[in-house]
Amino acid sequence: MNRELTRKGILFVLMGPTGSGKSTFCERLIAEFPEELSYSTSATSRPPRASEVAGKSYHFLSREEFIARREKGDFFEWEETHGNLYGTLQETLVTGIQTGKDLLFQIDIRGALNFKKHFPDNTVTIFIVPPSFKDLKERLQGRGTVCEAELQRRFVTAQDEYEALLRLHGQTSAVDYLVVNKKLDQTYEEVRAIVMAERARYHRIDKDSVEQFCEVRV
Ligand code: ADP
Ligand code: 5GP
Repeated sequence: MNRELTRKGILFVLMGPTGSGKSTFCERLIAEFPEELSYSTSATSRPPRASEVAGKSYHFLSREEFIARREKGDFFEWEETHGNLYGTLQETLVTGIQTGKDLLFQIDIRGALNFKKHFPDNTVTIFIVPPSFKDLKERLQGRGTVCEAELQRRFVTAQDEYEALLRLHGQTSAVDYLVVNKKLDQTYEEVRAIVMAERARYHRIDKDSVEQFCEVRV
């Protein structure tokens, strides 16, 4: 008999300022665990970066299309950041959950709190910070995908995210993990360990599936 533990899917939400490493860790996790994890592609009204793939990095919509879909109730959640609209489509969430895999999200702190509110037992939030602002700046410049004015706007948003992070300190159901992204490989191991540990949390595992393993025959 093929015995397996079953449980409801987990929503892993990676947050942190632009350039903190969210995409890098999402890509590595998906590459390492294609059967276990799937990426929830958000929609945005911002234009694609050169390296981005439509439908994979984001569903790129015009601002008008985004607003029309938002008014139709197509979004589970949405926010405006750096003057652009970003959101999780209901359809993406439902399809993702139906795959039976755990889902990875890369969204801002307000969006993450929305998930925590709706799915408190199944949402795991991980906030990633760069070791310093200087590192963040260098990494963003190294990525080379945004102009100076855009960089400045993103730094203002980063400051807002840090303030929100500090306000949430002490709340048990907001930010679950804080990870400092110094050395890439080491930080990936840390993020990976969180994902692995959360997948083994007993309270999410279906009791029926545990029973199969608890049979004692003498
Ligand atoms: P985000 O998705 O949070 O905006 P990215 O994953 O795109 O951030 O990372 C921004 C840039 O920083 C990328 O070019 C990435 O390769 C680089 N990077 C990420 N983590 C590290 C690290 N620990 N050391 C050096 N560079 C890093
Ligand atoms: P970027 O333009 O760098 O890809 O993303 C800017 C910000 O928007 C990041 O903080 C990112 O996490 C956030 N974001 C991306 N998709 C979503 C989403 O679907 N919902 C919310 N609330 N934020 C998102």
